[in-house]
Amino acid sequence: MKYDCIVIGGGASGVMAALSVRRHFPEYKILILEKEYQLLRKVLASGNGRCNLSNRNIKADNYFSLQAGKSSKQKFLQTAFNIFSYPDTVEFFCNLGIPLRLDQSDRAYPYSEQASSVVLTLTQALITAKIDVLLQAKVSSIKSADGFLSLAAEPCITVKQKQHFTYLTSAETYQCKKLIVACGSKAAENLGGTDSGYQLLAEYAAISELRPGLVPLNLLMDQKAKILVGQRFKGSAKLIDNNTLLAETSGEFLFVENGLSGIAAMELARFLPQADQANQNIIVELDFAPDYQLSEIEELLFNRQKILDKQKEDCSAVGIVKAKISDYLVQRAGSINNLTKLMKSTSFKVNGSKGFPAAQITAGGVCLSQIRMPSLALKSQPNIYLCGELIDIDGKTGGFNLQWAWTSGFIAGQLHDSI
Ligand SMILES: Cc1cc2nc3c(=O)[nH]c(=O)nc-3n(C[C@H](O)[C@H](O)[C@H](O)COP(=O)(O)OP(=O)(O)OC[C@H]3O[C@@H](n4cnc5c(N)ncnc54)[C@H](O)[C@@H]3O)c2cc1C
Repeated sequence: MKYDCIVIGGGASGVMAALSVRRHFPEYKILILEKEYQLLRKVLASGNGRCNLSNRNIKADNYFSLQAGKSSKQKFLQTAFNIFSYPDTVEFFCNLGIPLRLDQSDRAYPYSEQASSVVLTLTQALITAKIDVLLQAKVSSIKSADGFLSLAAEPCITVKQKQHFTYLTSAETYQCKKLIVACGSKAAENLGGTDSGYQLLAEYAAISELRPGLVPLNLLMDQKAKILVGQRFKGSAKLIDNNTLLAETSGEFLFVENGLSGIAAMELARFLPQADQANQNIIVELDFAPDYQLSEIEELLFNRQKILDKQKEDCSAVGIVKAKISDYLVQRAGSINNLTKLMKSTSFKVNGSKGFPAAQITAGGVCLSQIRMPSLALKSQPNIYLCGELIDIDGKTGGFNLQWAWTSGFIAGQLHDSI
């Protein structure tokens, strides 16, 4: 079966790429091959079902690359965002009948605040654009011969509810002139995450180290620390490897069973060295009251003591932190002086992260040096274009990752000749 363009992967970037191909090449025969029983599974789960699909502050500084240096990463992203950025996303979704709504942190959501409305609308857009979609079709190889790219696809066996599309029942070969690889990353296997894209491209491009990103940290928590499980706080944290500062963050944290979650904690994970590189001395240092200096905390705790019954030797930090966090800190401190210090700096040993299954994204991917800009074509294979999380670009929380999917999908779909 021959197509002008095939897209491997029906996630955010793949769907955008297919729609972009249709916009730029109205006559093209286009096919999306998707291994899952449904398109856009991560979009459906995004933003806790509300779909934080972009952010008003799209700029290169809000993104990272594991392998590329800072200036190459900035140049790569600036080129991309000059082509398609936040205003284009607003226009794109408005044209589909989905106005966006900003929250106080400039995160953009569909006005309905329902991820399902985004999935339904994009699905309808594919049907209207006459883009063929084949579900449960896993591509297992890409070969180049006689000016065509030839893809081997195998059926996946998990038949669940199907959308409006057909699904693959037996192994098939598909050919195309132009191929867009939009296989995403290995984060969140339960939502379709896989390392399949890296494998498909291994013979065409160098892939960087891969790390789980936006994922809770594992902490070594003793019995006394169990009281913290379920407690949320707003604070700041430093990730430190043997006295070297790896990263710092601030915002919302949540203690979980043997771990630290919450948006701010999850942003630290991508900075954890791989197990074999770590010297096993990584700690996270928490500041429960970043708006106050040590001396101010001292005074606050002293004032508190004055109004309480001194006989009980009450030393507690309730009023600044939640009662259970205060109880833990008091136990650990033993004295009011130590309590003051712990309010500003309580350390836990970090034992890696909750890993790829729990991660929202993967840091690392196809190295930027392997990709032509502004086409997003592979340098080694100019008829293969890449988009989405497969590329060694990852964003902070707040809609930056989905914006990268829309931006890179749109660009790949332009199918610029880039030799
Ligand atoms: C729980 C969760 C919540 C998130 N929330 C947000 C959020 O609120 N805001 C935000 O910006 N980002 C969020 N993200 C991240 C965001 O969803 C991803 O960055 C984005 O979906 C990546 O798009 P993609 O197209 O690159 O990959 P994906 O969406 O993963 O799509 C890749 C597709 O390719 C398919 N595929 C892979 N290999 C093959 C193959 N060999 N053959 C056929 N098909 C294949 C996969 O099944 C998948 O459907 C969240 C992620 C998760 C897991």
